[in-house]
Amino acid sequence: MFERKAMVTRRPNIVIAISIVLASAILAIAVWVLAQMRDDALRRAQDSVFNVSLLVERDVSRNLEIYDLSLRAVIDGLKQPGVLELDPAIRQMVLFDGSASAKDMGSILVTDEAGNIKFDSQATPPRRVNLSDRDYFKVQRDSTNVGLYISHPFVPKVSGKEISIAMSRRITRPDGSFGGVVVGTMRLTYFRRLFAGMNLGAGGSMALMLSDGTMLMRRPFDPKIIGINLTGTANYSRFTQQPSGDFFGTAAIDGVERWYAFRHIDMYPLILDVALSTRDIYVEWRHRAWIIGSLIAALDVTIIALAVLFSYQLRYRRAAEEELRVLARTDGLTGLNNRRTFEEHAEDEWRRAQRNAWPLSMLLIDVDSFKGFNDLYGHSAGDDALTAVARCISQSVRRPGDTAARYGGEEFAVLLPDTDETGAAFIAEKIRAAVQALQLRHVASSQHVLTVSIGIATTRGEAFATSRALLNAADDALYEAKDAGRNRVLSYRTVTHTSPRGGATVTPSTETRNSV
Ligand code: GH3
Ligand code: MG
Ligand code: MG
Repeated sequence: MFERKAMVTRRPNIVIAISIVLASAILAIAVWVLAQMRDDALRRAQDSVFNVSLLVERDVSRNLEIYDLSLRAVIDGLKQPGVLELDPAIRQMVLFDGSASAKDMGSILVTDEAGNIKFDSQATPPRRVNLSDRDYFKVQRDSTNVGLYISHPFVPKVSGKEISIAMSRRITRPDGSFGGVVVGTMRLTYFRRLFAGMNLGAGGSMALMLSDGTMLMRRPFDPKIIGINLTGTANYSRFTQQPSGDFFGTAAIDGVERWYAFRHIDMYPLILDVALSTRDIYVEWRHRAWIIGSLIAALDVTIIALAVLFSYQLRYRRAAEEELRVLARTDGLTGLNNRRTFEEHAEDEWRRAQRNAWPLSMLLIDVDSFKGFNDLYGHSAGDDALTAVARCISQSVRRPGDTAARYGGEEFAVLLPDTDETGAAFIAEKIRAAVQALQLRHVASSQHVLTVSIGIATTRGEAFATSRALLNAADDALYEAKDAGRNRVLSYRTVTHTSPRGGATVTPSTETRNSV
């Protein structure tokens, strides 16, 4: 009943081990899910900056294209014969199509080869200003094939004082010589407004710069950084390596780490970047990770705690069962095996002896005149005496495999596997002598001390048909020992003369008389 137990009951630590494996699995799944969520957050951010950069690029390039068309229209108009002779008001209408009056567009101006304004979209007669010191003038004057030039930021001399950039084209005379420029200005607020319309989160940034690294506009807006040169910064270096791309980088301007998407704007010498801060990208994920992480940690701790508790319960139960098992197998007074245990062992050992043709001996020990001892000294002294006798027995029976038991009342039994008659007689005599040597006073006994009588039976092979027959034989020998005067050891012998108790035949082989 107690031997066959589930693995779990036998090894309570397995419960803890299983719970740890389970908790680890849950943790691993949670980590995997959180990692996926983190990747998703980055992917969403990548999509978002990509889309915003595409949108802004389209808007900017479209507006620049339209503005450039206006500049080309002015140049074409100036080539038309008769235009210069037109009435100034009509000439204005022919030359300037009105795109310069769009929001954030400044003036379209035509200069002569010395930089003086000849025609002005905003005023007739033109405002008297010389533009020969401007980069958009010098570049066109000094080179024939620049095409459209986009200038560095400047504060216009003609109208308003809002920082602007200009786009210029060269006017080439029929003979190929420089005939001035046509230039359109554009207020940088156009970009500022465009950037502000995009949803980029609190830490997001956008910037538009010239290909040479000159900052035109940045969000978050800071007037001080307009016009600064970014050459040499890590991010700018990456912008120049490819037409478009994305990466994690840290802005030189504010030191914030962001995910960047950049692109060169169409055929213009402009670079746009759009970036979301790493913090913004992961802020929601981090919040969820905290919640999920805490829940999983709590779950894992609970699982392991319950397992530890359960394992302690199992251990406690196992100890209690073990205690019961021992109690069920032993005799309460003497601590020896009880009768039931002895009989189980006797059966097992008898079978083993039969199988292997080994000898098996059994001793039955009975205290002499114990009734009288009880009467003389009391029941309690009798119990003490029985305990002392039990100690003598267990001290004399030492080999592993030997079994000593209290068989009942003041009778004891000893099982000696693989022990022949001689060996058994030796042990029995040791016990008898040991009890006598206790010198427990017993005035009613013939020896005046407490003694025992011992009957021995030994089997080898087929000598006895059952273990019970072996026991009966030992009992017969004991009876004979009592009959022969007590305080002695007698062996059962399967020889001829009839036992007084019928059936068995007994020949005392060893007879030890008391020698007190
Ligand atoms: P004999 O020499 O023939 O064995 O004489 P005896 O008096 O020992 O006879 P018997 O074996 O019949 O006596 C058994 C007595 O042992 C009966 C009872 O008084 C006593 N006895 C049995 N069990 C216990 C016990 O647990 N404690 C005590 N104190 N006495 C017991
Ligand atoms: Mg008895
Ligand atoms: Mg007795």
